[in-house]
Formats: sequence, structure tokens, C-alpha cells
Amino acid sequence: MSGERVLVLGTRNAKKKRELVLLLAGTGIRPATLDEFAGSVEVDETGTTFAENARLKASLQARAIGQWVLGEDSGLCVDALDGAPGVYSARFSGVGATDATNNAKLQESLRGVPLERRTAHYVCHASLSDPSGEIVIDCEGTCRGRIVDRASGEGGFGYDPYFEIPEYHATFAQLGDSVKSLLSHRARAMRQFLCELERLIGRGGWPIA
Ligand code: IMP
Repeated sequence: MSGERVLVLGTRNAKKKRELVLLLAGTGIRPATLDEFAGSVEVDETGTTFAENARLKASLQARAIGQWVLGEDSGLCVDALDGAPGVYSARFSGVGATDATNNAKLQESLRGVPLERRTAHYVCHASLSDPSGEIVIDCEGTCRGRIVDRASGEGGFGYDPYFEIPEYHATFAQLGDSVKSLLSHRARAMRQFLCELERLIGRGGWPIA
């Protein structure tokens, strides 16, 4: 359809998609999913940094479907584990990993580590590719917290039931969408992203089709 800008979210993670749609609300940009376009590909996350993976996801999907694509890569970095699981957050517990098995491995890895040494941060890197596969925006956001040893809350996803924001004395899973959409690594990356996007559109870098 002409007369609007369509931004394809280059992720198949339904919970991430939901957060990204909320963060794009009111921008005048229509978020679309990969399922709406023929030819999308499975992108192997072969990068060793969040930036490399986000750029790969954006660029390869954009070229495959001929659309503007937002690539996003994110994960949890735990200081006592030298930054692990990092870019391997989704597959921390190996083949067939789920949020439950990843959290079980995280707790096992941190067994005996006192609360004051359980500091961690989430990272989110967001990249925009034009339909030719060229990256035109790169942004990164982080959010600091700590890993508690007991799950609390029903919201969020992934490591959220164990990721506590000390200032709130609550995990992301307890704090829910309204707080997460202000404080999270994804919210911070997307705020920068939207500023950059406004600049790009302002200088005619993304004309309406
Ligand atoms: P990706 O799809 O390769 O970017 O993997 C992201 C993984 O990092 C997810 O599967 C989660 O394990 C973790 N992760 C990223 N963002 C969040 C978040 O906001 N909350 C909880 N876990 C997250």
C-alpha cells in the first residue's frame, strides 16, 4: 500500500515483537511482520557481538524481501560470568533451549555467588536496513540490574523473572509493560532509534513509496 512507511520487524520472537510494536506506537510508521512478505529467510546468528547479529538480521531480511527492516539482537550479560550468556542468551542451555532451561542454567552457574556480586545488564542493539541491504541506522541500549535466586512475577519473557531492578526492588516480570517500556534496554535503544529515524526521514532518506 502506498502513502505510508512500513517497517518490517526482523524477529520471529512474538514477545519481542509485541514490545517493539508498543515502542513504535504513535510514530506514524506501520510495523509489519516477516510473515506478511514472501521470501523471508532464516538468519543464522553467526556474529560475536549484538551489533553484528542485529546488522545481519536487518540486512539479509531486507534484501530477501525488498523492504525496510529493523534488525534487533539482545541478551543478558552477567558480570560474575564474564559477560555470559551475552549473544548466546537465547541458546545458553544448548539445543532445544527454552526460557525455563536457560534460567535453570543461569541459576546453576551462579550458585553460591552472593547477591552483591550478581550484577548484570541487558543489551539491545537495533539496526535499520534499507531495501537494498544497506544499514542506515545503528543504536544500542543497556539496562542494569542483578540476578536474584528466586523467580518473581508473570510479565516479560526470557530472564525477566530473575532480573531485578534494585531501585524498584522488583523484577522486570513483576514491573510489567509500563515500567519495562520506559527502562528497558529495548526501550532505550528504540528511543535513540526513533530520533535517528526522524532525522533520516527529515533529510529525505526514506521517501514514502
Ligand atoms: P535473540 O533473539 O538472539 O536476540 O535472543 C534474545 C535472548 O536474550 C532472548 O531469548 C532472551 O533469552 C534474552 N533477552 C533479550 N531481551 C530480553 C528481555 O527483555 N527480557 C528477558 N530476556 C531477554
